[in-house]
Amino acid sequence: MRISDRACLLTPSLTRRLFDLAKQYDDVVDLTLGDPDIIPQREIRAAACRAIEDGKTRYSQNAGLAAAREAIANFNQKIYEAVISPEEVILTCGGMGALYLMLASLVNPGDEVIIPAPYWINYKQMTQLCGGVPVVVPTYEADNFSITAEALASAITPRTRVMILNSPNNPTGRMISGGTFDKLAKLAIDNDIFVISDEVYRSLIYGDNRHESIWTRPGMRERCAIVDSMSKRFSMTGYRLGYAIGPKELIQAMTRMQENVAACAPLPSQYAAIEAYSSELDVAEMRDEFARRRQVILEGIANIRKLSLSAIDGTFYAFVNISQTGFNSFDFAMRLLEKRHVAVVPGRTYGDSYDGYVRIAFTVRCERLRAALARIRAFVEEDIEEN
Ligand code: PLP
Repeated sequence: MRISDRACLLTPSLTRRLFDLAKQYDDVVDLTLGDPDIIPQREIRAAACRAIEDGKTRYSQNAGLAAAREAIANFNQKIYEAVISPEEVILTCGGMGALYLMLASLVNPGDEVIIPAPYWINYKQMTQLCGGVPVVVPTYEADNFSITAEALASAITPRTRVMILNSPNNPTGRMISGGTFDKLAKLAIDNDIFVISDEVYRSLIYGDNRHESIWTRPGMRERCAIVDSMSKRFSMTGYRLGYAIGPKELIQAMTRMQENVAACAPLPSQYAAIEAYSSELDVAEMRDEFARRRQVILEGIANIRKLSLSAIDGTFYAFVNISQTGFNSFDFAMRLLEKRHVAVVPGRTYGDSYDGYVRIAFTVRCERLRAALARIRAFVEEDIEEN
């Protein structure tokens, strides 16, 4: 047997490695995956169970049930204040499914995909799976991890086809400003670049920050698609339901792809989506809970010598600067796990420039988070400093 070159390109992420290693400790606080401890609302669970009980568990149309596409189109019309037809929507197996089908539909071998860093590792690996070439553009904490149109412009070549934007961002929790979106839209139009706008964390935004999307900028609807998911909005990670909103031609291409890789998104989850989006289930309570956790993290890290953390505009991630500890991100994460049984993700997962950071997912309740922070503090101020 010979495994394909493409499959060999993929390496298991450090996120998964730390997650797997964490399993060997009974008392571990696992802050690795973006997979919250919150159970989806009763209405969602009931709709999925009803579908199973009623035997609505067969295949659907490849792009999803007509009623689900319609519910999602209607819901998003209000958010984006734009007319959206169900033909511009495809339901997929998670936001990941949408991203993969989209890249597979847009990228030819050798095409370049611009990915600002720090980035969610899957963008890079999916681009490679599609035969594309990831072109990474770093951002820095000194500039609040802000993307600039100038930096992205300098990465454009005649092979550039796609740019992936993620706001709010995993792992930094920072958002792209409206003014920057204006400039990036112009850049995309002038250079004939398609923009994938990953907005899966848009319901988790704190304080005075407001959700903005490049998709709403003039001229963008024909060259931009939104990726969203029920995973983060409703804490439905295991339901594996996401969707994309984009130009009909792209949605049709993705639908043809989906026929050949998954047939359709899981049916009980599609019925849950119809319920969640048509009744416009309120997610404020969940956001408030994450806002409390965010506060615990901000205060907790501020109280640990040699660690620092700048603002978190959205998401449930903290990108903590560990550079003053003298450890690289991998050693820091491994030793923290071994010594104090707290699992975090090494920053180098998110790009070569981020070995001075670790990502903490505040996906556990406040008291557990406080316990984890006490352990991290003991690790940094006792274990490290004693050595
Ligand atoms: N986009 C980003 C930035 C993510 O962090 C994730 C999950 O962690 C996803 C997309 C996809 O999530 P899912 O496939 O569960 O919808």
